[in-house]
Amino acid sequence: MISSQPLIQASALARRYAMGKTFVDALRGVDLSVERGELVALVGPSGSGKSTLLHLIGGLVRPSGGSIVVNGLDLGKASDKQLVAYRRDTLGFVFQSFNLLPIKSAAENVEVPLMLAGIAPAERRARAVALLEQLGLGQRVGHRPSELSGGEQQRVAIARALANRPRLILADEPTGNLDSSTGQEILGLLQRLVRDEGQTLLLITHDMDVAAIADRIVHLRDGQIQRIEEHALREVDQI
Ligand code: ADP
Repeated sequence: MISSQPLIQASALARRYAMGKTFVDALRGVDLSVERGELVALVGPSGSGKSTLLHLIGGLVRPSGGSIVVNGLDLGKASDKQLVAYRRDTLGFVFQSFNLLPIKSAAENVEVPLMLAGIAPAERRARAVALLEQLGLGQRVGHRPSELSGGEQQRVAIARALANRPRLILADEPTGNLDSSTGQEILGLLQRLVRDEGQTLLLITHDMDVAAIADRIVHLRDGQIQRIEEHALREVDQI
C-alpha cells in the first residue's frame, strides 16, 4: 500500500551534470526518507546540492543514479506525461522570487493550478478567494502583484501552491526576499497550513532560524548528507 510507505524515499540518489568535456557530481548517493506530515529543512553551503535534490524530488530533473520514489511513483522511471501529472496533482511549489504572473490579479494567479487541473471557473474563483481570505488577503483578491507588498505576494504564491491541496510542498528559500518579521509571519503561516492539512513540507534555506521550524534538518555537503538533526518542534511566534 502506498500510504504505508514514506512519502519520499531517496536511495543512493545521484545526479551528474555534464559541463563541456567534464562533469559535476551535484548529488553523490543520498539516502533519505520523509514521512507524510513531516516538515523537513534542507541546509548546506552554496553548491552542496540542495536545489538539485529539490529538483529531483520535484520531478524537474531525472536521477543519473539510484532512485527517487514519491507517493509511490518512481520518478526516474516515470514517463514525461506521468511527471507532468505528478507535478500538477501532488506538488505545490513556493519560490524565493514568488513567480507570480504580473498581469494577473491575486485571485487569477491562485486559479492557475486549478485551471490546469480542469476545475470549472466558478469553483476555481470560489476556492481562490477562500484561500486568499484564509491567508488574510480578502481585501487584495483583485490586486496585481505590483500592487502588493513582498509579504503579500508570497502569501499569494503560497495560496497558489496550496490551491490543489497537494500532498507535498517544495519551498526554495521562501523567505529569502522578505524582511525578517515578514519572513517569520510567512513561515508561521506555512507551518500552520501544512500542519492543519496534514501536508508535507520540504524547504531549502540557508537561515538556521528558518530551519528551526522543521521536525528534521538535513545538512548537505558536497552532494552528500553530512548529518540529520532531529529537532524538537518549535512553533513560530505568531505576530
Ligand atoms: P545548492 O542548491 O546547494 O547551491 P546546487 O544543487 O544548485 O546546490 O548545485 C550543486 C552543484 O551542481 C554545484 O556545483 C552546481 O554548480 C552544479 N550544478 C547545478 N545545476 C547544474 C546544471 N544545470 N548544470 C551544471 N552544473 C550544475
